[in-house]
Amino acid sequence: MNKIHFDGYKKFKTEYYQNNKELFDNLIDSQSPHTMVITCSDSRVQPTKILSAPAGDIFIARNIGNIVPPYKRTQGATQAAIEYAVNVLKVEHIVILGHSNCGACKHMYHIKTEEEKKIELSHVEEWLKLAYPAKNNSMLECFADPTKDKGEVTEKNNIQLSVQRLMSYPYIIEALEKQQIQLHGWWYDIGTGEMQVYSYETKMFEPILCK
Ligand SMILES: [Zn+2]
Repeated sequence: MNKIHFDGYKKFKTEYYQNNKELFDNLIDSQSPHTMVITCSDSRVQPTKILSAPAGDIFIARNIGNIVPPYKRTQGATQAAIEYAVNVLKVEHIVILGHSNCGACKHMYHIKTEEEKKIELSHVEEWLKLAYPAKNNSMLECFADPTKDKGEVTEKNNIQLSVQRLMSYPYIIEALEKQQIQLHGWWYDIGTGEMQVYSYETKMFEPILCK
């Protein structure tokens, strides 16, 4: 068994925390993040690291597959986090941050072996049904153009599905009308570190250029 990260914590406490004491002092009583990030639980995706964001900047909700459920269809942690972020923290941006080689997107297509059927995954599979519209769209898209990468297409359609669902939440509709909030769809490539952002103009994901 691997060791728990005590050494990592000690390094954080003696170095990063000490060096940023003023920042942490200012955050003792309250938070005022400007952005909410809804991302996958995947261990390879580290939103605060990827965005070089200090404590207090980003309010994060994570779940398997960065899924936003339809409004009120289920009561759950993701909807509670969105409600709090928009109605109490008044975040100005919500980013749906998906990523390459997403196990959640892959699992929707996976046909289980007899051995795999013995493993309990009932909650995962019920949860992933919320993303089936993205799967169905992706199957059609890849049927029309077999050169497309089904995994990447599904990940990107799943991001767009989550953004579209946010647009159906009544209090987000209101915030959008008042121009108090912006919604974003981002796709992060683990293999290259590249971030692609969905453009409402071109209807495509386009890379953020670093130079
Ligand atoms: Zn994932």
